[in-house]
Amino acid sequence: MTAKKMEFRTEVRQLMDLMIHSLYSHKEVFLRELISNASDAIDKAHYQSLTDSSVLEGDKEWTIRITPDKMAGTLTVSDNGIGMTADEAVEALGTIAHSGTRDFMQLLKDKDIKENPELIGQFGVGFYASFMVADRITVMSRKAGSKCAEGVKWESSADGTFTVDAVEKKGKGTDVILYLKKDDLKYLDEWEIRDIVTKYSDFIEHPVVMEIEREEDSSVDKGKKIKVRRDETLNSRKAIWLKDRSEITDEEYNEFYHHISRDFGDPLKVIHYRAEGTSEFVALLYIPSKAPLNIQYRDFRIGPVLYVRRVQIMDHCEDLIPPYLRFVRGIIDSSDLPLNVSRELLQNNSQVEIIKKNVTKKVLDLLTEMKKSEYESYVKFHNELGRVLKEGIHLDFSRSEAIADLMLFQSTKTADGALTTLEAYVGNMKEGQEHIYYICGSSRDEAMKSPHMEAFLDRDFEVLLLLDEIDDLIFGGLEYKGKKLKSVIKGDLKLDKTDTKDEEKQFGKLVGFLKEKLKDEVKDVRLSGRLKDSACCLVSDEGAVDPRIEKMMKAMGQDLPAGKRILEINPHHPLFDAMNSTFEKEGPNSLLGEYAGLLLDQALLMEGERPKDPAAFSKTLSRLMAEAIKEK
Ligand code: ADP
Repeated sequence: MTAKKMEFRTEVRQLMDLMIHSLYSHKEVFLRELISNASDAIDKAHYQSLTDSSVLEGDKEWTIRITPDKMAGTLTVSDNGIGMTADEAVEALGTIAHSGTRDFMQLLKDKDIKENPELIGQFGVGFYASFMVADRITVMSRKAGSKCAEGVKWESSADGTFTVDAVEKKGKGTDVILYLKKDDLKYLDEWEIRDIVTKYSDFIEHPVVMEIEREEDSSVDKGKKIKVRRDETLNSRKAIWLKDRSEITDEEYNEFYHHISRDFGDPLKVIHYRAEGTSEFVALLYIPSKAPLNIQYRDFRIGPVLYVRRVQIMDHCEDLIPPYLRFVRGIIDSSDLPLNVSRELLQNNSQVEIIKKNVTKKVLDLLTEMKKSEYESYVKFHNELGRVLKEGIHLDFSRSEAIADLMLFQSTKTADGALTTLEAYVGNMKEGQEHIYYICGSSRDEAMKSPHMEAFLDRDFEVLLLLDEIDDLIFGGLEYKGKKLKSVIKGDLKLDKTDTKDEEKQFGKLVGFLKEKLKDEVKDVRLSGRLKDSACCLVSDEGAVDPRIEKMMKAMGQDLPAGKRILEINPHHPLFDAMNSTFEKEGPNSLLGEYAGLLLDQALLMEGERPKDPAAFSKTLSRLMAEAIKEK
């Protein structure tokens, strides 16, 4: 067979272009990516060999080998792992756009990522990083357990195409051969390679081996030096989680974090413990200082690395941690799970359930403790990751109150930059205040100015200001210490228990008239218990979706049934006295009809919405202004 030429999928090509042309610093991460791929390939082979020994091909020594060749200008990274068939190589290295690719490219285009190229690893686009230092790459691979003749040679010069060819390959696994660019020949230097391996791959479980040439005293010819070549393992392979906490320095903890999370920053907190009893395992977990950029993407990989008695089983085990703690990175090494545990088995495994419960509790306890005794640090955490954590209030019913306790809020009573908690809020509730009130808005200023707040401010009731789009979904309907969280823009609110029967009688007919006039636009018109200075406002039903969320969902193309809202009018506003006496004297007339429309438009304007028909609104308003001035 002659080599078959193929084209990279568009996204892959664009990605390669961007990597080659826009990333200049931290180029050395290419080696970490290749070693990490090699290590994954060995893990896969090892895992498969537990049930099918033919993949071993009689070779149980797992090795990742680095071979610099100064004469040829090539750097080769080899492994004796699972290898690839020709079809797999075409798919994995040319045609599959990894799920994170598009998001990653978007970020690459932003200035930010150019300064943080270490993020390459977080997105699983590792292999292509090698094109930053090589103008040609050859991959020789053979699937473990297949015949020697079934090898594949894949090659590309990053010109938008690659070739595949059949080759004979003796050993199983993969060799990645980089033809280094002229300016990047330093990566052939022994000490450069050592440095990179210890910096990025020290904790890789499998040995990263390189043949080193040294001068030694000759044992035959006394006094003479001879050159000897010997294999050396460059990485320490320490399973640091098995060591005692007192034996591990902060630097070692941090280094391991860098390795496992591919985050260059230092973690905010380390959780390292050994559980004994119903389940035996060691957990070494980290809370990052910064939210990973892709944490809100659907393809963000959740869960710690799972080991069973020091053997890596899975690089992200999502059954071990709830999604709202997905920022937690680290490893769990279980003593109880079987070595050949499959993904399916993990899902319904009681041991896994126990570990997950235990880990969840540990993390939440740590956060609670931090909030108490290291408040400043906790605020930092909350700013970065509170948004993810609070999903738990909605998703983990049994812990919703505990998680709600970890939330920090702005409120009508917090000073600039300060935050409050639900506990403090409840402690400060006024006599006669039944509920915990909140308002959703896009800024503190906007929320404070809402007409819905008037009665609360007037009565000095504290209102939480929720400024995140998802807050209404999370906090609406939550009960905390027996108190319901209620949106100030929803439901029929009566803050004081005074009898409103007289007012209802007084305005009954006018309200009926407005209702009839606006029946196509609003669900109801009623007297308001929440307004003080404004004439009217729009409110939603108790169980309705917050209008901000409705808007957001519509913007995302989701079809929502158009929920009609309720117009509330302020019986204490002079406008209604005037309207009421006109109505009583003259009955319904066209002026009052126009007023009805204007009331609704006003209410919309106050929410930052457009009047239903802006041109008609402006025309009516101008005419009424002209008439009012004439009458003076
Ligand atoms: P990722 O490793 O995050 O999936 P890469 O671009 O680094 O992304 O690799 C793409 C795919 O190529 C891998 O998922 C794997 O299937 C395959 N691959 C890369 N290197 C090797 C290797 N040394 N052995 C076997 N398969 C490999």
